Amino acid sequence: MVLKTYRWPALALLISSSLGVQAHEAPALPDSSLGKPAQQFSWPFAGNPGPNTWLLGQGYGNTTGAYNRRSSDYSAGQGVHFGVDISARCGTPVLAIADGRVTDVDGPHGSAPHNLVIVHAGNLSSLYGHLLERSSLKVGQQVKRGQIIGKSGDSQFTCVSAPHLHLEIRDASHRRFFNPIGYLKADWDSLSLVGGFGRGYQRDLEQPRKWQSLQDQPQARRGGALLNDYRNPWPPPPGSSVKLPPVASYKFPKVQSAELLANAAPTPTSRLQKLTTGGCCANPSFSLNGQSVYFLDKPSSSAKTGFYSVSASAPKTPAYLGPLGFLSSDATYVSWPQGTSSTVETLGTGARFTLPTQGANPVWSPSRNLATWTVSSQSGNFDQRKLEVYVSSKDGKARKIATRYGGGFAGWLDEETVLLSGKRAPGDALRVLESLNFRTGGSKNLAKAQNFRSLSLSPDGKSMVYTVAFDVKERNGQFLVSTAGGKTLELSIFGSVRWRSADKFLMIPLEPGKPQRMLEIDASTGNSRELLTLPRKVTLDDWSVSPSGSLIVFRSSGDLNLYSLALP
Ligand SMILES: [Zn+2]
Repeated sequence: MVLKTYRWPALALLISSSLGVQAHEAPALPDSSLGKPAQQFSWPFAGNPGPNTWLLGQGYGNTTGAYNRRSSDYSAGQGVHFGVDISARCGTPVLAIADGRVTDVDGPHGSAPHNLVIVHAGNLSSLYGHLLERSSLKVGQQVKRGQIIGKSGDSQFTCVSAPHLHLEIRDASHRRFFNPIGYLKADWDSLSLVGGFGRGYQRDLEQPRKWQSLQDQPQARRGGALLNDYRNPWPPPPGSSVKLPPVASYKFPKVQSAELLANAAPTPTSRLQKLTTGGCCANPSFSLNGQSVYFLDKPSSSAKTGFYSVSASAPKTPAYLGPLGFLSSDATYVSWPQGTSSTVETLGTGARFTLPTQGANPVWSPSRNLATWTVSSQSGNFDQRKLEVYVSSKDGKARKIATRYGGGFAGWLDEETVLLSGKRAPGDALRVLESLNFRTGGSKNLAKAQNFRSLSLSPDGKSMVYTVAFDVKERNGQFLVSTAGGKTLELSIFGSVRWRSADKFLMIPLEPGKPQRMLEIDASTGNSRELLTLPRKVTLDDWSVSPSGSLIVFRSSGDLNLYSLALP
């Protein structure tokens, strides 16, 4: 994930970058001497992806994680994540991605604790970073495709913080870094459905469609100027202030009551509808009545940047709705960070108030009367970072309800109960997934593991699906549990989950190399049925379900446009 580590903070970076420059002062090789991306490389781990083997972690390029550390950890690669991260338990055998010759064993390339570089045909090199121990291979040694060349490790040295392999494709002169997508043969769209961390891409609001997919990412040149030092970035970096738009400048439909919404399911005219053109846009969401899809865009150089809306069932040209902000899940509120606080506007009325969120985004309770937010320290190992959880009513009188380590807020269960994950003390071996009643202080442990991934809470807060990966075998898998406690059901299929209703959820199983299927699983029985095969693949796990459960919207592989699909 990163070149720098917290144990050897400035020193390690200093050594690696200064040696790197001295050792690799050779000019960049010309394009004509380099192998073109032709899926000539194979995967660096054996077997199929899953919670016991490996999962795609962070993609190459302009990720928000890299953007936030563009001037430190990622400055050598012009501010982008200049490799791809693949999560795996420490000690997983790493395989050579093609025949080649070892050029560096623990060379001056960062990616501690250990790294290895192999040069291949076409003047292309592969770097295997964050290896657990020094590879037993020697410089000059020939290796074969698929040969074990080392063991995967952890960028944070603990094997529980961030165990993964960081894989780079470079030119042999080490001057340039390439997007591995075109070089490695893999079903990247399906692999990106599950297991990810740091997957969102940072947006330049002057060109918000740029560098927003697995494929569309820039090549990086060692030591070149930052590619993503945006004047107008989104999401706004921690602690920044966003210029507030005029009050009530939105054209969002007025919030309707739950009773009305129950009857508001649209009747699509055909099953699959293309909603956008030109490769637009990431992270769509449904309007509260399920009839429209909202997304962030600037459709032309002269158009305004902001939220656009398109009909989910009878799409026409998307219409501008209003300026950007953090929209609450049901479009009741929109908020903007203002340094250490947030300004919140009630959509429809235009009433504004301030919450002391320390720049974090508020998440609203089922009644929309209480907000919670979390403030996390930004340094130290991921599994030990202190997290403080606050609750406030609209008057801004906030109180801290919990402190956890390496955790997160996972959702509201009811007006006085939240779902949290994390360690009670930084030295604890395991994280706890628990419900916490902040009025009484009562809590209930629902699961324990080294790490939880992809928590998904049912709309009524009564059930959830969570994933554990790269832990001991008994704890790995995808599980369904009642938030009131009780029996935990292990799912027999592993995939990307969204809730369709209070008692049914949808899953796209992780089946790379095959068409993507959509299953519906009954949360009370665990029984599943196949609804359909998706007519186009979903990329980057970018899909959501309409409030009535009758439609999904997704970002498609290939043309990267948004599509709606009616479900049986
Ligand atoms: Zn990485």
